[in-house]
Amino acid sequence: MRRQAVKVRLYPTEQQAQILAQHFGCARWWWNYGLNKCIETYKATGKGLSQSGLNSLLPPLKKDKETEWLGECYSQVLQAVSLNLSRAYKNFFEDRAKYPKFKSRHHRQSIQYPQNVKQVDESLKFPGLLGVVKAKIHRELSGTIKTVTVSKCPSGKYYASVLMECDGDYPTSSTEGKVVGIDLGIKDFAITYDGEKVSKYPNPKHLAKYEKKLAKKQRIAARKVKGSNRRRKATKIVARVYEQVSNVRQDYLHKLSRKIVDNNQVVIVENLNVKGMVRNHKLAKAISDTGWGTFINFLSYKLERDGGTLIEINRWFPSSKLCSNCHYQINELPLDVRTWTCPSCGTHHDRDGNAAINIRAEGIRMLSSSGTGEANANGEEVRPIRGRKPKMRHFSVKLEAPTIPLAVGGG
Ligand SMILES: [Zn+2]
Repeated sequence: MRRQAVKVRLYPTEQQAQILAQHFGCARWWWNYGLNKCIETYKATGKGLSQSGLNSLLPPLKKDKETEWLGECYSQVLQAVSLNLSRAYKNFFEDRAKYPKFKSRHHRQSIQYPQNVKQVDESLKFPGLLGVVKAKIHRELSGTIKTVTVSKCPSGKYYASVLMECDGDYPTSSTEGKVVGIDLGIKDFAITYDGEKVSKYPNPKHLAKYEKKLAKKQRIAARKVKGSNRRRKATKIVARVYEQVSNVRQDYLHKLSRKIVDNNQVVIVENLNVKGMVRNHKLAKAISDTGWGTFINFLSYKLERDGGTLIEINRWFPSSKLCSNCHYQINELPLDVRTWTCPSCGTHHDRDGNAAINIRAEGIRMLSSSGTGEANANGEEVRPIRGRKPKMRHFSVKLEAPTIPLAVGGG
């Protein structure tokens, strides 16, 4: 079985929009209530609440006069919230995510139907009160529909993200074929090295145009009186432009990841702690705008479908500061230094191209040392790495003691 997700636009009637608003409200209230309970429980016992623990709180709430309106919400929607909340808590405790946040009615609203959604012609049929909602379905939904997430953007548009299970398996992941290393940067979005040449992929040009427009609309909205009708209208325009920006970006990331996956079997990237980096305010905008996390995500699922392999190398690997020719490592390489000359062998490096070469070499080294790479990488590409043992040993020590702060743009 393979899984596939498809996003479709929904066109609910006015009445359905009301039902959705009610469901969004219930789900949001239940999330916030459950999160509060988790916090209290944690203070008292040192543990969070499980999905079943959360679910067991629901029946008494539905009986209570003050919260009986919860009964009007399709019950599996609330149970999906319990599941997501208990997962969010678990991810936090296992250090994979930030602490779960309370949800606000001013942001994107969403609910999940864990099962029982069906396609009926050009519509989706939901269980419970919602019923058949008109949809714009581009591709036939060919698999068994599993979870469906319905969301409403601040601009007022409705979407359904449909997760399906389809027959057949993905091709077995293979490491035979072309290997590409990718350095994710700020000046250029991505710099690749495929063993022959370095290619640079700049950020999409029209993105800047939309971003300018977005900033302008945000300024206009900020000038309107809070709570006024004009402010509400202006905010809606901001939301619409924001959606345009994110559509342009997603489109670009889809095309670029498709191109890379079509041309390579093994893709090597740095395991970026994007969250950690966004805390650095100066770079925050550039990083969240370029969407590195989304890009790696796209690469990952496209490779899985095509039977390729994604390798993430340690984020402490000094990809920018290492000479790809002789493996001498320099101490400092400020972000604004775009080219440098190796003091040991005299090779002149373009910062990002050099990093992509190093990332590729490190990925191949990992493949060959994990054993899965024996059949990989055309043999000749594995051997030179092994021949570089002394230098490699030198920085594998560094990997174990990650004291080097990560310099964005390559490490
Ligand atoms: Zn050198």
